[in-house]
Parts: sequence; structure tokens; C-alpha cells
Amino acid sequence: MIPFTSAAAAEGALARSLTSWEEIWFRATHNVSDYKLYCMNIVFLFVIFSFAPLPYVLLDVWKVKSAEKWKVQPGVHNEPSETWRCYKVVMWTFFTVVGPLQLCSFPAVKFIGIRFGLPLPPLWEVALQLAVYTMVEDYGNYWLHRWLHNGWWYEKIHSVHHEFAAPMSFAAPYAHWLEVVILGVPTFAGPAMAPGHIITFWLWIAMRQLEALDTHSGYDFPWNFTRFIPFYGGAEYHDYHHFVGGKSQSNFASVFTYCDWVYGTDKGYRYMKEVHKKDAIAKGKEQQMRENGWLQADDLKAVPASVVKDVKAS
Ligand SMILES: [Zn+2]
Ligand SMILES: [Zn+2]
Repeated sequence: MIPFTSAAAAEGALARSLTSWEEIWFRATHNVSDYKLYCMNIVFLFVIFSFAPLPYVLLDVWKVKSAEKWKVQPGVHNEPSETWRCYKVVMWTFFTVVGPLQLCSFPAVKFIGIRFGLPLPPLWEVALQLAVYTMVEDYGNYWLHRWLHNGWWYEKIHSVHHEFAAPMSFAAPYAHWLEVVILGVPTFAGPAMAPGHIITFWLWIAMRQLEALDTHSGYDFPWNFTRFIPFYGGAEYHDYHHFVGGKSQSNFASVFTYCDWVYGTDKGYRYMKEVHKKDAIAKGKEQQMRENGWLQADDLKAVPASVVKDVKAS
């Protein structure tokens, strides 16, 4: 709760006038406890999980023809019943794991030093912290995800997330509850290392979830602004990881491509893409490949397993 009884008292303490945003924040939160503000995260996450995926999911279940040329796996769609089941599982995990974790983690949030009051952080600070959180999460997620592809961890835990070989946005948070907890660690690592304002924290959680929904959408639209972010993986990049499935040793990173490049875990993906390009050029179908994508159900059969590790488990 903001420790000032009036905006004038806040201005006195800051020795300057409040900005417009600070006035709005003061009016909206001066009577609200820090705990309630932190718990708003649960509401934001529920809205993002439930509504943000809808445009992509409807394109998928309605099999919209005009969007088909941007489908990463053309012709492969999730049925409405599967989509509904996916959402119900996500909500079950949300209300039994994600929500309670949020409710219990408030002392940790206070301990690491996340601020709730005034002054509000300048824009440059918010942007810098979001960039740091993204880099930290991407690196941590890469190694944890790679570890989840081993033995027992894959069989019992991570295979749940891989039930969708052609992912859709609802399937982004579709995972075993223990995976949700494990991959939550790098998500919180950034704010723990560089604690900021609760607004920055809300933005970070929302941004991370929206990024995951986009990456799992199954569609790679040319007007998506993420295409202009250097080293950004995107839907096609992560779709390949789901397409190959449990045997995949490619494309572990959650946001960027550089970790997979540095540690050599993008070789299967790059090889496959190259093979398809050569094949398409030989058949005079390069334009078609560009328009219709290159991940299709029969494609992997043409590639010798001795050359590419990333063969779909038969
Ligand atoms: Zn995986
Ligand atoms: Zn995934």
C-alpha cells in the first residue's frame, strides 16, 4: 500500500510533481494492499490463458482456408473436442498449481525487493529489466528444457507437453504440474536478480505468456512483428520441436535461437530445412514451399535416420 495519505504528501516526499501515470497509480492503488496487487497477476494470467489464444485457436479448429498458407504444418488441425480438453487441463493446472503458487509466493516477492509504491520506474528502466528477464529466462529455460528431454523426466513429465505434435496456443501452458513449477524458476530468476516495480513484473509475466502463445500458435504470419526481432525463434522454430516429438534434440530454447546455435542443438532443424529447400528447388516448388510451409507429415520419412537424429519416434 502506498504510504502517503494524499497525492500532495507523495509529491512532498518525492520533492516533485507526480507524473500523470503516477497520479493514476496513486488513485488506483493507495487503498489497495501490496498482497492484493500481487494477486492481480492471477486475474491477468486467467484472462491471457483464456482469451488471448482465441484468434489463433479459432483459425485452427475452423480450419480457415485463407490462413492455411501460413499454417506451419499445413492440413494438420486440432479438433474442437481436443482443443476443449486442452483448455480444461490448462485451467485445472492453473487453479490447482499456478494460482496457489502465486498466493504463497508473496513473501518471496517482498523479500527480493519488488516495489509497489511511488515513484513509478522510468520507461527505459522497465524496458531494460524486461530485456534482462527475457535473456535470463531464455538461457535457464534452454537448459531445463533440454534436461527434461532425458529418460524418466521425459517419460513422466515433459511428454505431457509434447502430446500436441502440431501445437496450438492453448497448448502453450499445457504441461505436467511439475514442469510448470520447474520452468517457473527461470521465469522468476530475472525479477529476483534485478527486482523492479510490480508493474514491470505484471508486464513481464504477461509478455512471457503472450510470447509462448504465439510460439505455439501453429501459424507463422508474415506481418507478425516478432519476425523483426533478431535471433527470435517464433512459431515455425518451436513447431519443429513439437513435430519431431520426444526424440527431438533440436530447438530447446523458448524465445531466441542463439542458445541452440551455440550449443549445436539446431543441427537437425537446419539440416531438415536445407533438405527441403534443395528438394523443393529440384522440383521447381520453392515458391510453394515458401507459401505452404515445409513441415508435413510424410516429410521426415524421406530423411535417413543415420544422418539426422531428429526423426519422429515411430
Ligand atoms: Zn520439449
Ligand atoms: Zn512447446
